[in-house]
Amino acid sequence: MIDLHSHTNESDGTCSPAELVDEAVRAGVTILGITDHDTFKGFDQAVPAARQAGIELICGIELSTKLHGSSVHLLGYFLSQSQMDDFRTWVLQQQAARRDRNIRLVARLRELGFDITLEEAEARGRGMTGRPHFAAIMVEKGYVSNFRQAFDEYLDESAKGYVYRQEPQFAEGVRRIREAGGIASLAHPVRVKGDIPALMPELVGCGLNAIEAYHSDHTPDDISLYLCLAKEYGLMVTGGSDFHGAVKPGVKLGTGSGSLEIPSDLVERMRRDGAPLTTTP
Ligand code: AMP
Ligand code: ZN
Ligand code: FE
Ligand code: FE
Repeated sequence: MIDLHSHTNESDGTCSPAELVDEAVRAGVTILGITDHDTFKGFDQAVPAARQAGIELICGIELSTKLHGSSVHLLGYFLSQSQMDDFRTWVLQQQAARRDRNIRLVARLRELGFDITLEEAEARGRGMTGRPHFAAIMVEKGYVSNFRQAFDEYLDESAKGYVYRQEPQFAEGVRRIREAGGIASLAHPVRVKGDIPALMPELVGCGLNAIEAYHSDHTPDDISLYLCLAKEYGLMVTGGSDFHGAVKPGVKLGTGSGSLEIPSDLVERMRRDGAPLTTTP
């Protein structure tokens, strides 16, 4: 089995990199893509464990980008890691922007009457502290009754505790991934606000060269639509469960919510078709 979308506790998953590899072995996943949000730390740490377990590890990342003001997630896959130093440096800059946001988010939440500190949030999220970590603290302290309420009332883009974070534009995310020799795949397109078929020419115009047709949130009809679009625009196809461990208990590695079937030859096809973008001077 194959799974090209998973998270460790270096972003907002609950498994350590080594635990994620163990989980893959248990689930029968032999090709595993680690796509933490804005960091390669989980992937880097999983490399020795995967080697020992005989699992093929794919280096990936999930970027939060902005498209027409809305958040769009973008996956980057680096089948060759020889030319990605600049990309890694850029990713570290994104992490600095996140920390700046977190400082302002703490101030905003304290203004709203919650006793939350940056230190306690970072104790959970470390370098990749994000809103889910703040939501967990709010649940634990009894400020809200569940995760959903924390987002709906305070943390969601439309909620009263939301503070702005500097995020790259979609086009920049795609360009950075492609210039680093990576494959840029539109993550869980079903979650993108707006009409995907209508947006496609613009996304492909930015250099997008893959689409995540297979994902835990996709119905069979969604999958068919994204496969059609992949064909129409000559895009590669990626797929994964978006496993986060205990925070999303209904999503299993490899099979998602139970019925996810990811074709086992996706990586072979990515290797065949994923020629790096050649920039002409
Ligand atoms: P951050 O990167 O800190 O801005 O947090 C983004 C993460 O928060 C996303 O990857 C989701 O896991 C989660 N998230 C964002 N919006 C919501 C929402 N409305 N409900 C639940 N989780 C959300
Ligand atoms: Zn996540
Ligand atoms: Fe995502
Ligand atoms: Fe994800």
